[in-house]
Amino acid sequence: MIHPASIQEVLEKCQIDDVVRDFVTLQRRGSNLIGLCPFHNEKSPSFSVSPSKNIFKCFGCGKGGDSLHFVMELENLSFPDAIRYLAQKYKIELDETVTSEVQKDEQKHLESLYLINDFAVKFYAKQLWESERGRNIGLSYFKHREFREEIINEFKLGFAPESGNALTAEAVKMGYSLEYLQKLGLTNSQGNDFFRGRVMFPIFNMSGKIIAFAGRILIKDTKAPKYINSPETEIYVKSKTLFGMNFARKMIQKEDECIITEGYTDVLSLHQAGISNVVASSGTSLTRDQIRLIKRLTENVLILFDGDNAGVNAAIRGLGLTLEEDLNVRLVTLPEGDDPDSFIQKVGSQQFKEYLDKNAKNLVQFEMTHLLKSAGDNPQQRASILSQIAVTISKVRNPLKRESFVKICKDLLQIDENAILFEINRHLKKDLEKASSERDTNEPTPILEFKDSDYDNLSLGDEHQERDIARILILSGNQYIDENKEVMVGHFIIQNIKDIINGFDHPLYKRVVELFLQHSMDGIAFPDAAFFINHEASELKNLAVSFTISPYTLSENWEKKWDIFLSQKIPEENFIKDASDSLKRFRFRKIGKLIRENLMVLKKMDVLQNEALYMNHLKLHLRLKEAQASLAKETGTVVVG
Ligand SMILES: [Zn+2]
Repeated sequence: MIHPASIQEVLEKCQIDDVVRDFVTLQRRGSNLIGLCPFHNEKSPSFSVSPSKNIFKCFGCGKGGDSLHFVMELENLSFPDAIRYLAQKYKIELDETVTSEVQKDEQKHLESLYLINDFAVKFYAKQLWESERGRNIGLSYFKHREFREEIINEFKLGFAPESGNALTAEAVKMGYSLEYLQKLGLTNSQGNDFFRGRVMFPIFNMSGKIIAFAGRILIKDTKAPKYINSPETEIYVKSKTLFGMNFARKMIQKEDECIITEGYTDVLSLHQAGISNVVASSGTSLTRDQIRLIKRLTENVLILFDGDNAGVNAAIRGLGLTLEEDLNVRLVTLPEGDDPDSFIQKVGSQQFKEYLDKNAKNLVQFEMTHLLKSAGDNPQQRASILSQIAVTISKVRNPLKRESFVKICKDLLQIDENAILFEINRHLKKDLEKASSERDTNEPTPILEFKDSDYDNLSLGDEHQERDIARILILSGNQYIDENKEVMVGHFIIQNIKDIINGFDHPLYKRVVELFLQHSMDGIAFPDAAFFINHEASELKNLAVSFTISPYTLSENWEKKWDIFLSQKIPEENFIKDASDSLKRFRFRKIGKLIRENLMVLKKMDVLQNEALYMNHLKLHLRLKEAQASLAKETGTVVVG
């Protein structure tokens, strides 16, 4: 049990920005800090940290709270574990009474899982260093791989003995529950140890807690797999984990690059050689969650392939996601016959780094080189390269990047740029059609709901304009309205309508405006179209999809317009005029409506009963009339009555 005074001390020491920065790269925006939200998928930051209030808040998914909430939520920690983590971070010694055997059972579920993993890691380490088999087999294997003692200790490597149930028996004797041991996969259904005769690699989460194990077999046994892993549990989700992230994250932020290798031992070797911004994907391709994990720290990824070239094709295909998520990916193949482990031991870290810098290629260069090499002189295969590379390029979201990839493709293939563009757009069109048909099968956009109002005709007239404003905000809200890049479209619109935001009739369009208003008030970056397209609320998602698709599918000369995909021009070039006209019309109508509503209130009011309130409404009436008159002058409209 942790003493309440200790908990208090920890909570007082915590600096939210400091705590968050260990997991998310933050940038200053006004008095707040912003970054990509670790709790939901996003491309532009809506995750905000307020050092003065000592809290975080995400305006995309709504998660918010203090340092304690942040680590509990993000790392799936129990309350005591979160306190322990923070105490360790701030070097606070906790006043904690040792838990009894009985209490262990009573402790919360998650905590029990971590406790057992902690027990197991110590057990395996003890076996490695102290038992005869452990030293002879396990330790000598690590020594043979030339791992130094400090790296073996840092990564908490261990050895699982061959005999039946050494770990399980000891754990049960210590009072740990057999049920949890089985749940964690440390014990099999017969009550025997799951990992036997293997060297053990603990798998950590970002905050350094042990969530699972991987065991490597040492005896040459054709039947047994080389590596076996813990099953997935509440604390271990394979697709969300990158081996070594807890050791690498600081250096990834510092170097602004994440190196990805295939194996656990590669990570250890590179760490030992002083290259610490490295993790292992331990799978063929990166998952979206893993990409998000990286993207919170850096946008730059360097992937290392062994020199034998096996699996490169599959790996390339699996990298489409990194393009969709707008990561800058470079790839390197190590010299023939080498893996990162053997290569760094051969040449040392300086030469290793130089090799990476010299040989790293971006995804398109890498894929092209690879395809050209395997096609050789075969004309048919060479012809299919364009189509394959076009699929890759069509996944790139950033127009400038896409343009540069087209250039690379043109230079390497020596073909006309238009042929490449045509091929890319063919794929884009296919994707759009697919998105559009998926949209049709989704729930329909809700039927427009109007408030009970005396001004039905007015509301109907406004729906089109409200939609227009929502469209401009979603498609162009985060772009600059002027050449000097001083005013954003979103700010311009919000400034113009924030006083009449309650005049919005359509709840969905109002929601879009309110979201922008919130961002504007909090001084954080406006969301882009992708934010809405990926939004979990299906009505917002459908709205954004319909906006992004309509300019292309509705246009008759779509084929002629395909080049819009490849430039940074905004589809509606006159959108500034568009926005400002739209706004004026909108304000004009809304002000008219507010005047009438306000007059109704005034009529019903007894001035003697509440003079102050009556005066307020009267002042509002005068101000609205004034605004209406000046707008009328601008738009050349005649105000009646
Ligand atoms: Zn979020």
